[in-house]
Amino acid sequence: MAGCFIVGAKLHNIIVNLLKLRIYFAYFHYLRSILTINYLLDNMMNLNLTNSIKMPDHQLRRQVIELCQKVEKPLLKLSTKDYVDNGLGHLVQQFDGQAGLVNIEVFNELQHTITGWPGGKPDVDDSTRPERAKPYPKRVIVFSPHPDDDVISMGGTIRRLMQQKHDVHIAYETSGNIAVGDEEVRRFMHFINGFNTIFANGSDEVIKHSYQAVKAFLNNKKEGDLDNAQILRLKGLIRRGEARLACEYNGIDSEHIHFLDLPFYESGKIEKLPMTEADVTPIIELISEIKPHQIYVAADLADPHGTHRKCTDAVLAAIDEQKKAGAEWLNDCRVWMYRGAWAEWDVADIEMCVPMSPEELREKRNAILRHQSQMESAPFLGNDERLFWQRAEDRNRQTAKRYDNLGLACYEAMEAFVEYKF
Ligand SMILES: [Zn+2]
Repeated sequence: MAGCFIVGAKLHNIIVNLLKLRIYFAYFHYLRSILTINYLLDNMMNLNLTNSIKMPDHQLRRQVIELCQKVEKPLLKLSTKDYVDNGLGHLVQQFDGQAGLVNIEVFNELQHTITGWPGGKPDVDDSTRPERAKPYPKRVIVFSPHPDDDVISMGGTIRRLMQQKHDVHIAYETSGNIAVGDEEVRRFMHFINGFNTIFANGSDEVIKHSYQAVKAFLNNKKEGDLDNAQILRLKGLIRRGEARLACEYNGIDSEHIHFLDLPFYESGKIEKLPMTEADVTPIIELISEIKPHQIYVAADLADPHGTHRKCTDAVLAAIDEQKKAGAEWLNDCRVWMYRGAWAEWDVADIEMCVPMSPEELREKRNAILRHQSQMESAPFLGNDERLFWQRAEDRNRQTAKRYDNLGLACYEAMEAFVEYKF
C-alpha cells in the first residue's frame, strides 16, 4: 500500500511546526499481526496526538493455528511430533512436555471468542466471555462508513443486539451519493411525478419544474460529467431511504438512525477532500450525547478509495478527543472493529465471533437487499463479479469454516471482531 509508514512523535512535531497547516493525515501500517494507526491531526484544534492501535499479540494462538493449517489437522489432534517436526517443540516444553495441554489452551482461547451475545449475556459469569455482562442493556453505536456497511459487515450482530434488547444506534458517516446510478434518480423522479399526477392532478409546480430540470440535466449529461449539487442530494436521499428500510427491517427506531454526511466525502467525485475537524466534530457530538457502552467501527484497510479508512480515523480521533476531555463514559465503553466487504480478520486476531444460523444469514441478506441502488454491481472488485451480499455471505461462511477446520463448533456463518484498546 502506498504511503504506509509510521510517523513517530518527533517527525510529527517537526511536520506540525514546519507546515502549520490545518491538515489531517492518517497513516496505517499493517504488518502481520500489528495494526498501527498514527495520527497527525489538525493542530488548530490542538489534536496533537500520535495514537497507535496495537493488535493483541495472540502469539501462541497464531503459531498453533498456522501449524494446524500446515499439517491439516484440527487443534485437538496435534501431536508432539507435529510440534517438533515444525520447529515448535518449545511450545510443548512450556506446557509440561504435553502437546495436549497446548492444544487445549488454544482451543479454549478460541472457544471463548464465540458468543451469541455480542452485547454481553446478562446475569451470567462473564469472565471468559468477549463482552462483559453489565451494564445491561447497553447503549450501542454502530458507525457505518457508507449507508450499507453496517448490514454488510455486521448485519447478523446488529440483529442479535436488537433481539437482546440493547439500545442500538446506527451512524452513517457519509452520504454515499457517488455510488448511485442515474437510473435510480430517474426511477424516483418518475415516481414523484406520478405521485403529483395521482394526488394533485399534476398541479404541484415545484415537483413539475424540478422533474423537468432533473430530467434535462440527466439527458444532457455526458460520460465523465460530474453531477450537480441537486442530483448529488437526490442520490444521497435515495441511499438514506434504503438505509432507513434496512434499519426498519432490523427493528431500529428511526430516532436511532443518524446521517452524519461527513464533509470530506462531498467532493462530488471519487477522489475525496482532505479530512478536517469538521469531519470529527459531528462524531464527538454524537458519542458525547449517547455515551455508548459499545462502539462498532469499520477497520477495513482494503477499501479502494480510502473512505473507510478516513471514517475510522474520524471515529478514533473523536474518541481520543473525548478521552483528552476526561469523558467518564469512556471508562465503561468498549470499541469493536469489524472489517468490510473486502476482507476478514485472521482467526488468530479475532476476539469476538458471532455465529449465525442459516435463517439468520438469510435475514442478514434481506437487510443488505434493502440497499437496492447497490445491487446491480459492486464497484472496484476487479474480476470479482459477486455482489455485496454474496461477498458478505461467502466471507461469513468462510470464517465459520475456519473455526470448523480447527475443530471448533461448526456454524453456518460468523461475523468477526477485534477490540480496539484506547
Ligand atoms: Zn463502504
